[in-house]
Amino acid sequence: SKKVDVLGIEFDHTTKLETINTLKKRIMENKKTFIVTANPEIVMHAGRDPQYKKILQSADYIMPDGIGIIMGANLLKNPLPERIPGFDLMKDLLIIANKERLRVFFLGAREEVLNKAIDNVKREYPGIQIAGCHHGFFKENDPQIAAMVKKSNPDMVFVALGFPRQERWISNNFHLFEKGIFMGVGGSIDVLSG
Ligand code: UDP
Repeated sequence: SKKVDVLGIEFDHTTKLETINTLKKRIMENKKTFIVTANPEIVMHAGRDPQYKKILQSADYIMPDGIGIIMGANLLKNPLPERIPGFDLMKDLLIIANKERLRVFFLGAREEVLNKAIDNVKREYPGIQIAGCHHGFFKENDPQIAAMVKKSNPDMVFVALGFPRQERWISNNFHLFEKGIFMGVGGSIDVLSG
């Protein structure tokens, strides 16, 4: 698809609806997908950290999370259609998972927060199969965590470790998987727990 460069990060020129339809299709085709929803903080961080920038460039899709990116693209005379907040995208994916009875893994946040979020997901989306969950306070390259996620055979993995850790975790472990949607979701598990 068409890309829009904002300070060296190539955003996908797309809408939330189009994105959801693309992701649905990729799930049906068992294609694995790394999605980044980038806000201005993430773009600025990539400017200072070449390794992180490479990780972002390796993602299948980069979505504009927040009005700051939309304004930046406008100023650069290369506008993006709309903002695609990470939390909204995650919610839409949970709706698909609910309908299709998919397996979802939640990785990140504090343990009590995560447990509350899981309770809420089970109540709101009874069709979702909770593949597993683990709190976000572990050594970043602990192979046991990655092995646990892999063993759970997930269709979707939401990684809430804050940036840049969440994208780094996905990038380091993506090769282990044959399928699945992988997405860093920042504080979204905290929001789900509320
Ligand atoms: N978090 C985590 N492990 C850490 C640091 C943070 O699991 O080592 C979690 C934190 O509990 C929160 C989430 O990461 O649920 C996102 O934090 P924040 O809102 O700071 O991330 P950002 O939105 O800046 O990416």
